[in-house]
Order: sequence, then structure tokens, then C-alpha cells
Amino acid sequence: MNGSPERRRFDALIIGAGGGGLRAALQLAQAEASVAVVSKVFPTRSHTVAAQGGVNAALANVLPDDWRWHMYDTVKGSDWLGDQDAIEFMCQMAPRVVYELEHAGVPFSRLDDGRIYQRPFGGQSQHFGGEQAARTCAAADRTGHAILHTLYQQNIRARTQFFDEYFAVDLIKDGEGFVTGVLAFSILTGEPIVIEAKATLLATGGAGQIYRTTSNALINTGDGLAMALRAGVPLQDMEFFQFHPTGIAGRGMLITEGARGEGGYLVNSEGERFMERYAPHAKDLASRDVVSRAIYTEVKEGRGCGPNKDYVLLKLDHLGAEVIKRRLPGIRDLCLTFLGIDPIDTPIPVYPTAHYTMGGIPTNRHGQVVAPHRNTPEEVVPGLYAAGECACVSVHGANRLGGNSLLDILVFGRMAAEDMIGYIRDNPYHRPLDEDSLAAALDRLTRWEARGEGESVDALRRELQQVMEDHCGVYRTAEVMAEGVRKVRAIAERFADARLQDHSRVFNTARVEALETENLIHCALATVTCALQREESRGAHSRLDFPERDDEHWLRHSLYHLAEDRVEYKPVRTRPLTVPTIPPKPRVY
Ligand SMILES: Cc1cc2nc3c(=O)[nH]c(=O)nc-3n(C[C@H](O)[C@H](O)[C@H](O)COP(=O)(O)OP(=O)(O)OC[C@H]3O[C@@H](n4cnc5c(N)ncnc54)[C@H](O)[C@@H]3O)c2cc1C
Repeated sequence: MNGSPERRRFDALIIGAGGGGLRAALQLAQAEASVAVVSKVFPTRSHTVAAQGGVNAALANVLPDDWRWHMYDTVKGSDWLGDQDAIEFMCQMAPRVVYELEHAGVPFSRLDDGRIYQRPFGGQSQHFGGEQAARTCAAADRTGHAILHTLYQQNIRARTQFFDEYFAVDLIKDGEGFVTGVLAFSILTGEPIVIEAKATLLATGGAGQIYRTTSNALINTGDGLAMALRAGVPLQDMEFFQFHPTGIAGRGMLITEGARGEGGYLVNSEGERFMERYAPHAKDLASRDVVSRAIYTEVKEGRGCGPNKDYVLLKLDHLGAEVIKRRLPGIRDLCLTFLGIDPIDTPIPVYPTAHYTMGGIPTNRHGQVVAPHRNTPEEVVPGLYAAGECACVSVHGANRLGGNSLLDILVFGRMAAEDMIGYIRDNPYHRPLDEDSLAAALDRLTRWEARGEGESVDALRRELQQVMEDHCGVYRTAEVMAEGVRKVRAIAERFADARLQDHSRVFNTARVEALETENLIHCALATVTCALQREESRGAHSRLDFPERDDEHWLRHSLYHLAEDRVEYKPVRTRPLTVPTIPPKPRVY
């Protein structure tokens, strides 16, 4: 690299071109702000494209529904760890964001009367815990694809400026704590670039690659989470990581919950429909954490299927070819391509797979990043916003309901943009570039140019993923996790001397992988450290040594600080905005 990097200036900078980032960018561009969107992959390859099942909104097109029932289900699904004001807001806003998408051109599946088709999903109920609801709006089983492509096209029309295949390295912050942009580099040429903005939104998605078996794309490496950590922002509730019950056994690719929503069900080696024992009421449509634990237990107790008895079967064959072809064509394709079986006549081997990062960058419902600062419990980080899977608003608490993440990214992507529009109006000038902050970011980028010997980055990444799978999975104990913390810390130390992949690989790609691996290490450290400290079982965090939920001591959010490797806690917001609090009670399905 020669001289100082190129500099570009915009009103707003969005890091990430998934549904969250693109929804925000559209709002900003339509308000005449100049908007830059940076993405390490071409925008329509973001993980949102892989979302299958759909997006929740109480439209009541198929069965009676009410946003208050949706709110109740979400609070219960979160095992009461979600903030009730944010959940209320999201559920109330849901119909509006879905209709906005419909008007923007998303080709939702239709009912015979022309209204949007809605399917039943896990954890949904009518009348506050009564009969199953049908709340998930779907475009067959390719809902994310439809949403992402529509949002991208609308952004092109609104003249959003895209930096495709640019990798964001670190945030740039000035001496007063304002975030003023990012250091990124072109993956094609390796040239660094400073993108300065009055307001910056992190919309970089989740960190599912901290686990070996995952439904997540290779790009879901928690880059934004780690950028926040390095900028001094703690991460919230990282111990809560969702394992989706139906990954393709041994591979991790996702079979949508929509398959059970359409009437599919799980059986063990005895042909028993075992979910009836674990969740007598909701059965196969209980919450994801509940179904994942049930599958794990069936296999552990010797009732798994196949030669190694290490998976269960998802039966769809009784649904008939017509339903499968019309409502689940993508699932059928996946099975034909990767398993060589047709779900029309053969059940699918499934096992839990790492799926969703419930924790993330702490924000309020306006997308502002809020972090404890010195002696104040909460303070907004000026100029910094977060939305989507990288953010923790918190609407998912200890366990996310299926169909609520697409909703989260749409509602809070939009909300963040609205707040950014006001912020840009009130702060009309760019702040001076802080050279020290830029130098630190540049150092993280350029130090890979001089690397020689040491362990390979690639091997360390694989080891990390295995450690997380073995030490921070569906069921957890102090002993196993303490070992996990030690191993992740050791990997972090060894990483300091690591070298890039072999030279047959393109240098910039190898460098991206190295930067991503460092980000994964930071996310993994946050996850396993917070998990070890939380001595209770709640939602996706299931401890064999502390099997009960403990509201007296643990109804609170964790906050992990990287610099001091320290966890602190803050209260859950239990007061909704307009309706009464939903008080904690035992969570049964
Ligand atoms: C297989 C699968 C199926 C799913 N199905 C559903 C479903 O049916 N319903 C539902 O509600 N949820 C579903 N989810 C969850 C949901 O899809 C995601 O949580 C959501 O789409 C995340 O959107 P996002 O905008 O936050 O991030 P993403 O869509 O993950 O996008 C992240 C963006 O950030 C960019 N980025 C990241 N790091 C950098 C960097 N360092 N520099 C530059 N750019 C960067 C990437 O290029 C990308 O553009 C599913 C998830 C998976 C994995």
C-alpha cells in the first residue's frame, strides 16, 4: 500500500447488504440522504437470501390473530429475557412492514382469495397460549430470496451507492467517542478505503460460523460483532445461541420449520412420534430449543435412526406430492441434490444445527447502540447504529421464534434509518478523521502482509469451530465450558502468530479469511465466557448442572467486554409501552 488510503464521504454508511442493511438503506435513500452500502459479497448473496420459511405478522389471513398474541408468544419464546417494550413495538409494526414489502414487489404466496398465504410456525398461538396460530407470511420456501432481491432492486432505483465485495475491517472513532466511519478494503484489488459518514449502521448479520455444523453461510463470521467489541462496545446475551432442530444430519443445511408447519413431523427409530412426550400440546411445533433438546435426548438414549443411530427422521411423505411441490419446492431440491432422496416418498434424516445468534450489539428500539459508559448504566454511542442479526434489541431474548428474525431485520432496519435521518439533520457536518483510530485499523489490515511462519489460519478456524461444538452446544455444564474457555483463549493466543493459507490461494481472499477468523475468535470468546457464567437454564442455554430457570438471580442481560475479558449485567426491560407486563411463568408447550 502506498500513501494514505482513498477517502469517500456520505451522510449514512451501512455495513452489510442483507435484509436489515438494505431495508435501512432504502429508507435513507428515499429521504434524499446520500447512502453507501458496503458488503463483502454481492448484496443478493447475503445470508437473508437463504431464509426459507417466512416472516411473522398477525395479519389473520388464515386463522384469527392479534399482534398482542404475537407479543405474548414472543415474550414466552424468549423465556422472558426479551425486552417487552421492543417486542411490543415489533409485533405491532409487523403488518405494516409486510404490506410495505408487498407493495415494493415481494411475490408472496397467495390464498385462493388473493390475500397473503400464512403458515403455522413453532411457538405460535391464538388467545395467549391457546390453539396453534398461522402467522408466518411466506413466498413458498424461498421467502428471504424474494425479500432480498426486491429490496436490492428498490435500492438501485433509489440510487443507493454500493461498494460490493469490500471488506469492512474496523470502525473509526474520534477522541470524543463519535463513530465517524469505517476502514474497508477492496477484495479484488486489496486497496484500502476510508468511508466517512455522519451516521454508521452495522448490519453484518450473525456469527453461525463459530460452530462446525451450522445452517449458516461461510460469510456469517460475526465481523460487525467483533468490530463493536474492538470499538469498546460490549456484546449482550451472547450465551444464547440457537440450534435449529432440523438440519440435514451430518451436514447442517437447514430444513425449514415450515416443513413441520405444513404438517411434517419427527419420528425416532421405533417409528414413534416422540414430540408428543416432550410437548403434549404443541408437539412438533414447540419452540426450537425444546425440539432440539428432544432430538438430542432421543439420540442419546439410543432411539436414533440410521447405521450409527445418530439422527431422527422428518416425515413429509404423508403430505402428498402436490403440497410438497407447491409449498416446499426448495426443501425438495435440497434433499434431491444433497441426499439423493425425494421427501415425497422418503423421510429426511435430521439433527440440530447451529443456526442463529440471539445476542449481539446492544441497541434500543431506535437502532441506537447503547453501552454502559463509565459510571452511567446506559449511554448512546453517538453516530453508531446496529440492526438485524448482529443487533440485540432485545426481541429474541433467550430463544428466537421462527419467522421473527426476518421481522426483526425489517422493523429495526427501518427504525434505525428513521433515527439516522434525524441524527444527520441535527449533525450536518462530518467530524474530522481521527488519525490514531485509522492507524489502529490499518495496522490490523496490513500486518498480514509480513506474516511468515506459524500455524495456518485455516487450521485454527476449524479447531475453534470444533471446540465450540464440543464445549458450548445444546447441553452445557460448568466443567465442559470451563475447558472451552481455556481452549478458545489458547487459540486466541496462537492466532497472534498465525500465517495465511498456502500461497496458491489469492492473497486478498486469504487475508479476508484471516480477518474473519480473528472476528470468530472474539465472538466465540464472548459466547463461551457468558455461557459459563450464567448458572441457570433459560431458553437455548441449557445447563445440566443448573437445570432450572432462576428469575431471582438471572432475569438480566449479560454484557461481555473484550478489553477486560469481563461480563457485567443489566436489567431486562419488563414494561411494555401500552399494554400490561406479561409476568414470568413456567414455559411449557
Ligand atoms: C438457512 C437459514 C434460513 C433462515 N430462515 C429464516 C426464516 O424463514 N425466517 C426468519 O425470520 N429467519 C430466518 N433465518 C434467519 C434470518 O434469515 C437472518 O437472521 C437474517 O436474514 C439476517 O439478516 P441481516 O440483514 O442481519 O444479515 P445477513 O443477511 O446475514 O447479511 C449480512 C451482510 O453483512 C455483510 N458483511 C458482513 N461482514 C462484513 C464485513 N466485514 N465487511 C463488509 N460486509 C460485511 C455481508 O456481506 C452481508 O451483506 C434463516 C437463517 C438461515 C441461516
